[in-house]
Amino acid sequence: MNKQSFKHAFTLSMVYLIFGLAWIYFSDALVASISPNNEQLTLLQTYKGWFFIVFTTIILFIMSNRFFYKEFLIYSRHMEEQEVIQQQLIEKDLLLKTIINSSPDAIFAKDLEGKYLLFNSGASSIVDVPSDKIIGYSDEVIFSPETAEKIRKKDIEIVAKGIIESHEEELTTANGEQKNFWVTKGPLRNSEGDIFGLFGISHDITERISYEKTILENNEKFYRLAHLDPLTGLPNRLSMIEYLDTHTNQIDTASFSLLFLDLDGFQQINDSYGHRFGDKLLIEVAHLLQRIFPPEAYIVRTGGDEFLIIINCHKNISYLTSLLNRLTDSLNLPFHIDGIDIYTTASIGSANFPRDAKTTEELLQCADAAMYEAKKRGKNTYRFYNPTFTQKALERTTISNKIKKALQDNQLSLHYQPQIDAKTQSIIGYEALIRWESDEGFIPPSTFIPICEESGIIVNIGEFVLMEGCKTAMKWKSDGLLHGHIAINVSAHQFIHPNFLSVIDNVIYTTECDPTYIELEITESSILENPERMIALLGVLKSKGFKISIDDFGTGYSSLSYLKNLPVDKLKIDISFIRNITHEPKNQTIVKTIISLAKGLGMEVLAEGVETLEEYTFLRDSGIDSIQGFYFYKPIPFTEIQKIVVKST
Ligand code: C2E
Ligand code: CA
Ligand code: CA
Repeated sequence: MNKQSFKHAFTLSMVYLIFGLAWIYFSDALVASISPNNEQLTLLQTYKGWFFIVFTTIILFIMSNRFFYKEFLIYSRHMEEQEVIQQQLIEKDLLLKTIINSSPDAIFAKDLEGKYLLFNSGASSIVDVPSDKIIGYSDEVIFSPETAEKIRKKDIEIVAKGIIESHEEELTTANGEQKNFWVTKGPLRNSEGDIFGLFGISHDITERISYEKTILENNEKFYRLAHLDPLTGLPNRLSMIEYLDTHTNQIDTASFSLLFLDLDGFQQINDSYGHRFGDKLLIEVAHLLQRIFPPEAYIVRTGGDEFLIIINCHKNISYLTSLLNRLTDSLNLPFHIDGIDIYTTASIGSANFPRDAKTTEELLQCADAAMYEAKKRGKNTYRFYNPTFTQKALERTTISNKIKKALQDNQLSLHYQPQIDAKTQSIIGYEALIRWESDEGFIPPSTFIPICEESGIIVNIGEFVLMEGCKTAMKWKSDGLLHGHIAINVSAHQFIHPNFLSVIDNVIYTTECDPTYIELEITESSILENPERMIALLGVLKSKGFKISIDDFGTGYSSLSYLKNLPVDKLKIDISFIRNITHEPKNQTIVKTIISLAKGLGMEVLAEGVETLEEYTFLRDSGIDSIQGFYFYKPIPFTEIQKIVVKST
């Protein structure tokens, strides 16, 4: 009962009480005054009672009618309102359900025991389990036991903290599928604020994570491709530049040596045994470097047969020397590849940071220059950088640039040094020797030929010499000046070039020169670099009619076993054995041995660099066939040949 209705009821009852009491009092007095007797009084009393009853009944009727009508109105309005509210509630519930189930994200609620109270369609489709199989159950139904336990722990933590939290989760479903979610979870509270469960919204980020992973993997792959040498797995040139750049920036603290290692004769190994074999050798060399150098050394393959090693120099120079000695010693042992014992050596240059150079580029140049010096010192050795190397390297670059121009500007010409018969002293041939009259003066071939060989321009120079030599041969032939042949020097690089035979054919075709007028001089060392291929190539040249001689014989440690197989006409004893031959018994023995060897193999033999009568006499008496040297003739220009040569008829 509310206050208002109590007041109304109380007032009404009081009015009724007062009216009733007043009625009884006044009507009784009135009835008593007008009643003549008791009988009449009783009757009047009865009528009065009836009147009262009828009157109050009417009043009661009117009032209750009004009251009930009002109540009815209120009640029915209330009922209507209730119905509307009910309807709205139903609609709201439906809307919420629709929203919850339309969400592609998983929306769920659990009680404090971890049993699901709510599990929307999004959640069902993510884990592929219908909601009705989950409501009332815990995470074991959906996830692997480990994952379910992990989730449970996290839920307990969130409930204990009583706060809403978001985090990433990697979960494994019951059928072993990996899923990633971005999860927001928080406590569920009732109207009193007590926690009775936990709600959660999980966004499936599996695809995004796997996409990110792919991107990451691709990035790693790209990084590897860009920074590692695929053959040896060592860092590549780019890595090395980055590494050097970071270290050369620490000029105050860093101190290290950069070793530039280039294998000797690797190209020949590749040519003889094939590239796959060559690759295996490079891998073996990489392993050897990793074994020899300490783990902190940075070993790089920059391409081809070149390796760089960056090694800390806190230890002294003798430590580095001992490592280099160990390396050259190990390289002298054979590598066992595909059942073959293969020998290779290396030329190594070392430059120090910051002593020799202060930038990456300069340091590389210094190590390169030192490596070049090691090559020049006969390979299979190492050299520490010295500033004169840079000067030499600069000269080399200048020369190699200038020689290209010299070729175009006709600064190159050939001089011819006559070769004579040791007995009759008559001319039996001429060696063509290149001359370069540069803007700065004469540059000897011993200076520029090795540079041309290194840069590859020797192929063009060689073609020029062949063309000129053959033209000269034809001219002298027609002028009656050609006694014997013209000997043309062919460098190993030129010989090995795949186009060599077609160049030869072209020269012969263009000059119309008879190959029998030409002797090709091949150095002993170039034959040694690739004997099998050389034997085959020399055979082809012989079959075309060319004569073949081995130049600088005695310096290349030829193996006698293959010498007998070489299609060669002549051995040219190297100048170093002729020098001081009259005073040097060992040289005499060597020369005599070479002469008898040549005879034994059915080859001619020529002595180079004969400068004195004594040398000539000794050689002639030792049975030499022919002589070349300043004692008889120096190399002379093309135009001056008729001054010394008697025309043949
Ligand atoms: P090489 O083929 O051994 O040539 C002989 C060298 O000995 C020539 O030096 C010649 O001038 C020199 N010589 C000849 N007789 C004497 C002598 O009695 N005493 C002394 N001390 N030297 C003598 P040159 O012309 O300076 O050539 C040096 C080297 O350059 C040649 O050695 C050859 O290896 C190379 N060369 C020269 N011309 C050519 C060429 O056209 N092509 C190629 N590939 N190399 C060439
Ligand atoms: Ca020669
Ligand atoms: Ca020679």
